[in-house]
Amino acid sequence: MFNKYQTYEQHDNEKISFYRSSIENLNSKDELNTDIDVDVCVIGGGLTGISSALNLIKKGYSVALCEARKIGWGASGRNGGQLGIGMRKDQYTVEKMLGLSHAKELWNLGIESVADVKSLIKENNIDCHLVNGVMSTACFEKDIDEYKFEIEHMSKNYQFEGYKFFNKSEIKYEIDSDIYLAGMLNSGSYHLNPLKLTISLAKLINKNVKIFENNPALKFYEKNDRVEVITKKGIIKANKVVVACNGYLDSLLRSQKNKFIPINNYIVATEPLGEKKAKEIIRNNYAVCDTRFIIDYYRFSEDWRMIFGGGETFTSRFAKDSESFVTKRMIKVFPQLKKYKIDYSWGGTLAITVNRLPHFGSIMNNKLIYAFGYSGHGLALSVLAGKLIAEHINGDSDRFKFFSDINHMSIPFGSLLRRPIYSSAILYYKIRDYLNS
Ligand SMILES: Cc1cc2nc3c(=O)[nH]c(=O)nc-3n(C[C@H](O)[C@H](O)[C@H](O)COP(=O)(O)OP(=O)(O)OC[C@H]3O[C@@H](n4cnc5c(N)ncnc54)[C@H](O)[C@@H]3O)c2cc1C
Repeated sequence: MFNKYQTYEQHDNEKISFYRSSIENLNSKDELNTDIDVDVCVIGGGLTGISSALNLIKKGYSVALCEARKIGWGASGRNGGQLGIGMRKDQYTVEKMLGLSHAKELWNLGIESVADVKSLIKENNIDCHLVNGVMSTACFEKDIDEYKFEIEHMSKNYQFEGYKFFNKSEIKYEIDSDIYLAGMLNSGSYHLNPLKLTISLAKLINKNVKIFENNPALKFYEKNDRVEVITKKGIIKANKVVVACNGYLDSLLRSQKNKFIPINNYIVATEPLGEKKAKEIIRNNYAVCDTRFIIDYYRFSEDWRMIFGGGETFTSRFAKDSESFVTKRMIKVFPQLKKYKIDYSWGGTLAITVNRLPHFGSIMNNKLIYAFGYSGHGLALSVLAGKLIAEHINGDSDRFKFFSDINHMSIPFGSLLRRPIYSSAILYYKIRDYLNS
């Protein structure tokens, strides 16, 4: 029953991440010694699951959460830390996909998601080193016109004035690399230490929510109008179940397996450079992501390490040599970092959808609710997802529907072809990135 190669087990052979070294695990004392009964059982201890639990207890529901490993084990505790407004795709593309009014609702929800995270941090004195500003950096000539178009479009149609254009010399002044042609600053977005946020929020809910770590859900079924979740350590009986496993979902929700592709993405952290050196590299301490299909994204940590992410694999196993290929990418951008030691190297799994928008929905006559597929843009959206899931469970589905109404293409022939299709696409874009760079 316990499959050795389930996604959440792929990371067992990893070295510790920088984030893991920066905060102690939650180490919940809760143990599932006997079967229990709750209003809602949440599966997955990342930000989607924790935010769902947080918002549900605020509404008076009793909640239990089970996590296959430790809280923050998944992408929520491993990511690039970029807390972005908007969706994974630019707003104009979202308009073309969904129409103007639906796209505007998503834009507003994207703004709300970042505002919510900021409020949670402030109200609960969460020490996760929030810093303002995310810079997009142009690798291709066409990006320059696209930046200009987006800035004007967002100002005219959304009254959003948070974007600012940087030409070649201006971007070189901000980011000390020779490879960029221009930049666009997003001052509505931020960066932070994601595991500190995740564990701090888990601590907050653990006063009212039983958190069962090292306790994977194995299957569930409907019984007498309720759901029984069979976990490794016992049965949790609930009126509703929230499945919040994102890239680690595997086949837990068989009906949704063809709606996403799990991707492994990798990060390295250098030794600390010191504030002075770090600010020679990124003058205003922004987070940065570039415009390639397989993006480079990076920022400085609270102790001035370069945290550099880039490079993806799409096989069902986790790459063991990620340090070398991510470091190579980093040196290409910043040759001056060659002399610094790599202290940490790790990776994580995310779920991408064909249209890059998150996939929300429900099955089992609305007794089981899910949200996944943030496509690499889930730090803020996962926190929002928890809020919308709680609203939905509480009988107000208006805002949940802005996501659940989105039509998601299935990947043809599902598990059989999704990896070959994606690997061909990656190869195509890798060649395109290479030829254009
Ligand atoms: C390397 C990397 C970099 C990223 N960078 C960024 C970024 O800079 N900005 C951004 O916005 N987004 C980024 N993302 C995406 C973002 O991290 C995710 O979208 C978000 O964290 C998803 O949160 P989640 O709670 O839905 O899933 P996760 O945080 O992945 O949590 C899912 C949890 O479910 C658990 N689980 C799985 N199966 C079971 C089971 N059967 N029973 C119980 N528990 C189970 C897993 O152990 C895991 O802890 C990145 C992702 C990765 C991997």
